[in-house]
Amino acid sequence: MRAPVPCLLSLLVLAGAARGGPVAPVVAPAARPFPLGDVQLLDSPFEAAMELNARYLLSLEPDRLLHNARQYAGLEPKAAAYGGWEQAGVAGHTLGHYLTALSQQYAATGDERFRKRIDYIVAEMAECQERYGDGYVGALPPLELQTLRNLKFGIVEVDGQHNFKGGAWVPWYTEHKVLNGLKDAWILGGNTQARDVALRLADWVDSVTSGLSDAQLQTMLQVEQGGMMDVLVELYSLTGNTRYLETSRRFYHRAVFDPLLARRDELVGKHANTQIPKVIGEARTYEVTGDPKGREIAGYFWDLVAHHYSYVIGGDSENEHFTPEDAMSKHLRANTAETCNTYNMLKLTEHVFGWDPRAEYTDFYERALYNDILASQDPRHGMFTYFISLEPGLYKTYSTPFDSFWCCVGTGMENHTKYGEAIYFHGGDNLYVNLFIPSALTWREKGLRMELRTDYPRTGRVVLEVKEAPSSPVTLRVRCPGWAGAPVTFAMNGRPLGVAGTPGSYATIDRAWRQGDRLEVAIPMAVRTESMPDDSSKVAFLYGPVVLAADLGPAPETPTAPYAGDQNANVHDRPVPVPVLVRGDAPIESMLVRSADGSLEFHTEGTGRPADVTLRPFWEISYDRYNVYWDLVTDAQWMYRSAGSAPGQ
Ligand SMILES: [Zn+2]
Repeated sequence: MRAPVPCLLSLLVLAGAARGGPVAPVVAPAARPFPLGDVQLLDSPFEAAMELNARYLLSLEPDRLLHNARQYAGLEPKAAAYGGWEQAGVAGHTLGHYLTALSQQYAATGDERFRKRIDYIVAEMAECQERYGDGYVGALPPLELQTLRNLKFGIVEVDGQHNFKGGAWVPWYTEHKVLNGLKDAWILGGNTQARDVALRLADWVDSVTSGLSDAQLQTMLQVEQGGMMDVLVELYSLTGNTRYLETSRRFYHRAVFDPLLARRDELVGKHANTQIPKVIGEARTYEVTGDPKGREIAGYFWDLVAHHYSYVIGGDSENEHFTPEDAMSKHLRANTAETCNTYNMLKLTEHVFGWDPRAEYTDFYERALYNDILASQDPRHGMFTYFISLEPGLYKTYSTPFDSFWCCVGTGMENHTKYGEAIYFHGGDNLYVNLFIPSALTWREKGLRMELRTDYPRTGRVVLEVKEAPSSPVTLRVRCPGWAGAPVTFAMNGRPLGVAGTPGSYATIDRAWRQGDRLEVAIPMAVRTESMPDDSSKVAFLYGPVVLAADLGPAPETPTAPYAGDQNANVHDRPVPVPVLVRGDAPIESMLVRSADGSLEFHTEGTGRPADVTLRPFWEISYDRYNVYWDLVTDAQWMYRSAGSAPGQ
């Protein structure tokens, strides 16, 4: 089989790619996000989450995150290392995530406090790189670093999916975070020193992998490598240096991509978060080079994970591995839905939406954003979930501030800095309104300023107001969610608009926009259910995009709950019994009655056994026990159950 590298490179020669500057993508996306700084969040749970996260970012001490980098470079550390994973073989991943989070926060807000931290960390890393001597920089412990340096001598010995021989723990995964953080410090943080450090590091990646045979590379790729392909192809697009593209192709993992390319689903049992970033790398490769294989792989994979491997909250995996759709109801455990997976699925969703802006993609994005990402933050201190338990009657466990530093803390600190990223997309004259999150948009090329105000999802009423009219035509495309039970309706300046608002599509509004124009969008909201793919008697309730979960009372406060250093600390804790719901002749949706105060609190009335329950948005249930998927039973089944055992067991 022909290796992909020469094929791609010849494509690029044809495309006229040159060394020395940014490369225009071969595939112009139909839609793309706005720069973070052009979308300002207004009052909403997302703005609150971003603010809380910013406080956590500022509470971290760069010198502590730099401890390992300095120590292993032979420089005196300036502060003690943090705990948790910062003391393990994956040490240093946080430094990379932190640089990305700071860079995104700075790009979104212009807040100089974040810029200063970026500048400081990059300067420190440059000093470390100088000391390491061969171009490497990072915080890998000696075993992990030596494992990567050994590649240069053709030594590739793996031990499972997460270790090289001797126990070296995912060094490419860790190094990806560092390289990506430096790239973001350069592009989003405006730090030119980060460019030099990043490119020198990328040169080093090239130098240690260039001598490996294809077979050796494929062996190396058995160990999780994060988004190495993605960041390297991005560096190629930023610099035009085809060596980075060539290096990125060394991370093409045939064992995963070949079945996807052949549209064979072999995901069951695979480590989930290992695969998603690889696929993002292929998605980016398609955009940059035009190689259609990347689009085929990414499109098929997205469809599989979004539609066949995800729970109702938009997360996937049990114990970090893809669960089989035909047995999903057996996989409602404490260690479901690793948060990193959703972080990565949102990234991938932005790619596939950009190629083909369909509501199906943004419906998934919205589901995962409200019910997984927003639900993953501890509203007291801004801590992060690792798993999001779907075990009936259990509760969420969050990280500690300074002694966890799990993978999901790293991606978590990024999550809440970029809520402005996908609310709007643009392409040509089209402005896509994807998410109904209060915000102010500036579309610089068009001279358009617009505000979106709403209390969605409490109601389905959204108002878009033009603050400054565009200087050239703009076609507004508003998502009409696929879950809406009736068409979305529109009114312009108080008058009904005859626009098709078919659920699952984008409504098109073409007009000569004027300052002060007010577009009112009315999205029909209602309670609905989604059942388990393998068990129609197990259902979750939603109101619009919001998953409703039962609030089953306070979870225990213990040394590991709600905050734990170990992500597995509470996975074996005993859940409380969960009521069941008895279905009669009325539609299931009618079991829930909404509170009269207009909040998103719902109650069952007479259908809960042994007692009725209160349901609230899943993202709001932070310190209570909860239930997401319900057993629907008949009265006779309930009598049988209650006679034999406690409910829910
Ligand atoms: Zn994780």
